[in-house]
Amino acid sequence: SPNGALKALKRARQEGLIDHIGITIHRDIDVMRMAIESGEFETIMLAYNPLDPEGVEREGILKLAKEYGIGVIIMKPLSGGQLVLHETEMGRVGNDPLVRYCLRYILSKDTVDTVIPGMRRMEELEENVLVADMPPLTDKEKEELFRLIGSLGKSFRYGQMCLRCEYCLPCPQGIRIPDVFRAYDMYVGYPDEVKHLALRLYEALEVKPEACIKCGTCMKRCPAGINIPEKLREVAEVLEKAIQQEKSLS
Ligand code: SF4
Ligand code: SF4
Repeated sequence: SPNGALKALKRARQEGLIDHIGITIHRDIDVMRMAIESGEFETIMLAYNPLDPEGVEREGILKLAKEYGIGVIIMKPLSGGQLVLHETEMGRVGNDPLVRYCLRYILSKDTVDTVIPGMRRMEELEENVLVADMPPLTDKEKEELFRLIGSLGKSFRYGQMCLRCEYCLPCPQGIRIPDVFRAYDMYVGYPDEVKHLALRLYEALEVKPEACIKCGTCMKRCPAGINIPEKLREVAEVLEKAIQQEKSLS
């Protein structure tokens, strides 16, 4: 708003109370785009990890921020502590290959400036500094990363089970399987006020999940072991119904 927080922050910067103004945004891709294009912010903080839970890489937000010269800070690099091996959850510190792969995966992106994993102990800080000096991930290490995440057998932030790795593609019917699952996760996991974003994403799919002929090709390649044809059927049912309900209310 004209007299909102941004105005106060700009005055604070003019008075020398602060040096820089950044913004943190969750979920709404259009708002992220607006913030970047406004030219008002020097940094943007986004939730991102190999699962791309909010679609900031897939929707070109990381790239856009880079084009505008805005510093990109990554939060939730381990999906709120979920992207760790069992031993780490049990209290072991350091040398967790999954944690190392996740941080290296993020730092390998030239659209990312820095990453801020949560740390409680000095040993965790030392481990993360060590990882920051490691080289970018190779393709083989990337495959191993998704195999490790799949082996956890968990669902992640917003109920996400699909790892968005795209190893299931191409589908002979042209179904963009990870995009279908992303729309579903958004619809189920996002708060009510932004659920419509999921329906717009679903509507924009060129090939809808009903086109699946259950050939099974995709399932053989999925590191998360998802029964893809079955899940596609469920997604279509839920999202088609939600779209119908939305139309009947408008
Ligand atoms: S099972 Fe369905 S989604 Fe999977 S590859 Fe075959 S047609 Fe595509
Ligand atoms: S369905 Fe499986 S293979 Fe396809 S993107 Fe998701 S996790 Fe990867």
